[in-house]
Parts: sequence; structure tokens; C-alpha cells
Amino acid sequence: MAVHNYDVVVIGSGPAGESAAINAAKHGKRVAVIERQTSVGGNCTHWGTIPSKALRHQVKQIMQFNTNRMFRDIGEPRWFSFPKVLERSRVTIDQQVELRTKFYARNRIDLFFGLARFRDEHTVVVRDNHEGVEELSAPQFVLATGSRPYRPADVNFRHPRIYCSDTILGLSHTPRTLIIYGAGVIGSEYASIFSGLGVKVDLIDTRDRLLSFLDDEISDALSYELRNNGVLIRHNEAYRSVEGDESGVVVNLESGKRLRADAFLWANGRTGNTDQLGLENIGLQPNGRGQLQVDDHYRTDIPHIYAVGDVIGWPSLASAAYDQGRSASDEFLGEDFRFVDEIPTGIYTIPEISSVGRTERELTEAKVPYEVAQAFFKDTARAQITGDTAGMLKILFHRETLEILGIHCFGAEASEIVHIGQAIMQQEGEANTLRYFINTTFNYPTMAEAYRIAAQNGLNRLF
Ligand SMILES: Cc1cc2nc3c(=O)[nH]c(=O)nc-3n(C[C@H](O)[C@H](O)[C@H](O)COP(=O)(O)OP(=O)(O)OC[C@H]3O[C@@H](n4cnc5c(N)ncnc54)[C@H](O)[C@@H]3O)c2cc1C
Repeated sequence: MAVHNYDVVVIGSGPAGESAAINAAKHGKRVAVIERQTSVGGNCTHWGTIPSKALRHQVKQIMQFNTNRMFRDIGEPRWFSFPKVLERSRVTIDQQVELRTKFYARNRIDLFFGLARFRDEHTVVVRDNHEGVEELSAPQFVLATGSRPYRPADVNFRHPRIYCSDTILGLSHTPRTLIIYGAGVIGSEYASIFSGLGVKVDLIDTRDRLLSFLDDEISDALSYELRNNGVLIRHNEAYRSVEGDESGVVVNLESGKRLRADAFLWANGRTGNTDQLGLENIGLQPNGRGQLQVDDHYRTDIPHIYAVGDVIGWPSLASAAYDQGRSASDEFLGEDFRFVDEIPTGIYTIPEISSVGRTERELTEAKVPYEVAQAFFKDTARAQITGDTAGMLKILFHRETLEILGIHCFGAEASEIVHIGQAIMQQEGEANTLRYFINTTFNYPTMAEAYRIAAQNGLNRLF
């Protein structure tokens, strides 16, 4: 068996593994990346972030064509099938794979395609699909194996009408009705995508409000927009059984309700990919969700084995995974280390949501004397021009110091807009106050102008 020696071996080529590997390679280390899929990019590129965001973009364009009156001069509203929309999304996946493959080549990182399994604390065995076996040895390891949809044993995912967020990307028809179980970020995003295609969606939420970690007003606004688009949200429900038959799926709820739809999408929970790593050979024990415990330097219980990204659980975002990977390799390279917190939230429902910092609920509980500065998109010239008038920007600030404490945004381009506020929030002292938005000239017309409108609104509330 071939044995290869490296300075660093990274398992997984999603955002966490990629950034750890590239950072180490740029510091002159000999790096290998092992990936069990047949191309790089991780679940992020193949099953998660990229396909769902690409799908959403196509759906938004279709919605615009079907609802903007101007387009009636060139044709009536059109219906698009899910497979058609998916086809275009695959183009983006291929572009991402090509781009990321070049990153590895440019940085002289060796790629091994196959399943990695620890033999001992310094050796992994890589087995490819053709029973080719290689052995890699290194003084440092980074586990960046990501996560997959949690699949409860009492739901038959082999049934052709029962899907999870991975298998939905193989849906070869457009259902008329769809039940989505789980109203977290993934469930809510897919509810937007399918309802945008004209599918009648039942969104089953096991809690009493959508995305309860968000600002209450924003969560309410999302519920309103989803309902407006034909999504029926059912709160505080749990399934008793999910039964597929020839023509659809019946979901029996604990509350006694019986729902029927053409298809069923399970979007409730994820499991860390640790079960095939041979962790029993090195004495590492994942928790019940398959996730690994790390310290505040991303070290597992074995100090030269780091873990980053979805495999360590919260926040399970590609954005954070990328930074965690780089931070972990900064740590063993002896560079300045940053623990990744203060993470913005980007939720790509239609319209989208983004926030950073604290919510009103958190500030009230902490008895911080804050005030609200608000701007509605309908009052900005840019939104009036584009027609994206649904939405708002809300800045929470300290009523005495004017320090910005939280930014919450709902509406078109929210995930971009939030970063303006985030940049100001990260400034020291006086530079981080509401006054920045009053004393700065914004391009006109822009969505960024909402910051100036909101700041004025907030200052007007002070007495
Ligand atoms: C539908 C959906 C939408 C999402 N949308 C967003 C979004 O809009 N924004 C955002 O920030 N995040 C989003 N996420 C989350 C994001 O995709 C994940 O947080 C991110 O992919 C985690 O990156 P990672 O590098 O930890 O792992 P992953 O991307 O999961 O990659 C891990 C890789 O490790 C490989 N691997 C696993 N085990 C082994 C092994 N034993 N040997 C070799 N290789 C192995 C896997 O094949 C995989 O390629 C979304 C997720 C889903 C499911």
C-alpha cells in the first residue's frame, strides 16, 4: 500500500476544509485533502448552499416575470417545472467545482478522492470506489467532514415521494402540493422556492413561531410573506406517521390532523458526518447528533486533531465554516487566532432576511436602554424603482451612547445590506454610532440609503 507523508491532512473539501488547507499551503506546508465525493466543494456546493441559492434565484426571476405587469406586453405568466429550474442551477455547481479545483492545483495541494478512516492518531486510510487504498500520515489533521440530513428511522426515505434536502435535488417532476416538515432555515427557504413555482405548500413547524431566533417583527414579516405566497404554516405540530402511497404522501400529526400531498420534504435536523471516520480507533466520541466537541481553539480531545464546520454543530453555516477552517490552521501555524463568533445570519427566503448583533428580546432581557431606528423599503427611491418594496431595515442602538447594538433586515438584498451596518458595528468607540449614517453621503438611489432614513428616524425618537 502507498504511504504518503504530509504536514497537514484535511478530511472534507467543503468551505471548512478548503480554507484550512489553503491557509496551511500558503504558509509553506505540504497539504493533502481527502474527499469522498467525486469532486471538490463539499455538501455546500453539491447539496446545500449553492444548489438552493441557485434554485431560489431562478424562481425569483420567474416570479418577477409572472407578476411584473410590464412583462404582460410580451407574454402571459408562464409555468416552469422544477426539473427545468434545477437544470440551470447545475451550471452554477459545475462552475463552482471548476473554480475550487483550480484553487487546490494553484496551491499545490494534493487531492485524494475516497473515504478517509483513521487507523491510528497519525494515519488515515483512504479507500476509493474502485477499492484503491492509500495511507496518509501527518502530525496535524483537520476534520471538516460536514453534515447530512438527519433521517428518522420511522420515515421511509426510499419511498419515491418522500425526500430530504439532499434527495429533493433529484426530484424529476413538479408536485402540485408539497408538505415540508421542519420550518427552520432550510424548510423555510424551500417553502419559498416551491411556493414561488406555484406549488401549494404546507409548512409544518414544530415550534410556535417561524425562526424564533430572529427579531420578532422579522419573523412575523416572513410568516406574512409566505402566507401571501400560498404557504400554509402549521405551528406546534409533530408527526405521528408519514405514509407514502402510489399517488402521494399522508402525514398524520400528533394533534389528530391528517394531511395529504403529492410529495413530502423532510427538513428537520442534521447529523454530523463522523460515523465512517473510524473514530473508535483513536478514542474520539461524537455526541448523539454525530458532532464533535472542540475547545475554543477548534481542538478535539486529541490536540493535533482539529474539527471545524458543520461537524462541530453551531452555527452550521458555510460562512462560519470557512472562517473556522482558516482559524484552525492559523492556530497550528502559530499565526494570530480568532474564534469565530459574531456571525451574521443570512436566510434566503423570498424575500430574504439578514441580521447581526442583538435582538430586541435579548436587549430587553439584559435591561439595555436601546431605541429602534427603522426604515421601510417602500420609502426608498431604489425600491420604488425595482418594485422590491416589501421589507425594512431596523437598527437597534443605545439611547445614550448611540452605539449600534443590532441590525435586522428583511427584504430584497438584505443579506448584502446588513454588511454595511456590520462594518460600522465593528468600529471602536465613537466610530460605531448611529451618527455615522447621518454624516455619510450615500449613493442615490440605493438600498443603502435605508441606513440614513433609519438613523434619522431613530434620532427623532430620542428626547
Ligand atoms: C439546503 C441547504 C441550504 C444551505 N444554505 C446556506 C446558506 O445560504 N448560507 C450558509 O452559510 N450556509 C448554508 N447552508 C449550510 C452550509 O451548506 C454548511 O454549513 C456547509 O456546507 C458546511 O461546510 P463544511 O465544510 O463544514 O462541510 P460540507 O460542506 O458538508 O463538506 C464536507 C465534505 O466532507 C466530505 N466527507 C465527509 N466524510 C468524509 C470522509 N470520511 N472521508 C472523506 N470525505 C468526507 C463530504 O463528502 C463533504 O464533501 C445550507 C445547507 C443546506 C443543507
